[in-house]
Amino acid sequence: MRIYLDHNATTPPADPVVEAVTRAMHDLVGNGSSVHSFGQQAKGAIDGARGAVAALLGGEPAEVVFTAGGTESINLAIRGVAEALEPTGRRGIVVSGIEHEAVLQTSRALARRGGTLTVVPVESNGVVSAEAVREAVSDATALVSVMHANNEVGTVQPVASIAAIAHERGALMHTDAVQSAGKIPLAARALGVDLLSISAHKFYGPKGTGALWVRRGVRLTPQMTGGRQERSRRAGTENVPALVGMGVAARLALAGLDEYQSRMGALRDRLDAGVLRSVPHTAVNGAPGERVPNTTNISFERVEAESLLIALDLEGIAVSTGSACSSGTLEPSHVLKAMGLGSARAQSSLRFSLGAANTETEIDRVVTVLPALVQKLRALTRTAVGA
Ligand code: PLP
Repeated sequence: MRIYLDHNATTPPADPVVEAVTRAMHDLVGNGSSVHSFGQQAKGAIDGARGAVAALLGGEPAEVVFTAGGTESINLAIRGVAEALEPTGRRGIVVSGIEHEAVLQTSRALARRGGTLTVVPVESNGVVSAEAVREAVSDATALVSVMHANNEVGTVQPVASIAAIAHERGALMHTDAVQSAGKIPLAARALGVDLLSISAHKFYGPKGTGALWVRRGVRLTPQMTGGRQERSRRAGTENVPALVGMGVAARLALAGLDEYQSRMGALRDRLDAGVLRSVPHTAVNGAPGERVPNTTNISFERVEAESLLIALDLEGIAVSTGSACSSGTLEPSHVLKAMGLGSARAQSSLRFSLGAANTETEIDRVVTVLPALVQKLRALTRTAVGA
């Protein structure tokens, strides 16, 4: 039995998505910018997808800019706003300490070019306090970027309150909704944000495909130039089959949202309860608190998470650490560190992210397999310490 519990990294494309992409590869051969019928057919398909994506994120189709994924959407939002607002003298960016690297590194890059970057701390439960954002925002702030749901611990942030604070000071608000789209209701307009990023491969769509929602009236300098596609906000011939696939994934996600939430919530709670019961010295990170229903992050005291990940992989179970392993050095997760977890606890934490195809039997198998693996690794640590 192979069990995939790494859906926050990526999801397998849904069968109707694969079918629609395959069909579009065959049938939609025109360039969406061409005037003839081949082009118009492609344009019609892109617009169909745009409508579905707009419905999923709670905005108007004309406000949707298609991109090549979450990272590009985030870059376009942050760089596009920073550049558009430069003449106003607003050069400050405010982000939280638990953002994805796409937000953190892009903001740092702008700060190196003369802007200012303020990183707001998070509470120990993995939630950014709106009041902490209030202290960081000033009349020089161009953009506040706080994610909707965190990719490592799943915590949902008070985005609406933070957007209101940003607007009080005349700043714009972007939210990285890559990990919330298709998992919890998303209503860009009701959230009060100005820009919102999503990525198709996190909700059973194709990889390398995403969208940035830009509220009507928000000024954004295009970062990709050379064509008038996407209302001149993102140049380049559209990847028609991928966009068609994203549209299908968006429709499925919206139609199945209620069922997804209740199924995932029940499975995730079963996993949490099972692990905490059967493995001593474990704790859930980022709870209690509102979390997306498919995600949990658990620390296993005195166990190196990377070793447990590999041991689980040998059992056919795929999870992740959320920490980057660069050049042989195990860097503890910046999210867990920002939540105030010590290095030891951060380095003993695993992320389990569930998906639509997971079953109770699979969760029970994980709960059955874990105690012995953890015990073995703890025994090894004791031996190594004793040696
Ligand atoms: N933002 C968050 C919260 C993510 O989890 C990810 C992907 O891991 C991204 C952004 C980047 O999205 P993409 O993989 O589509 O570039």
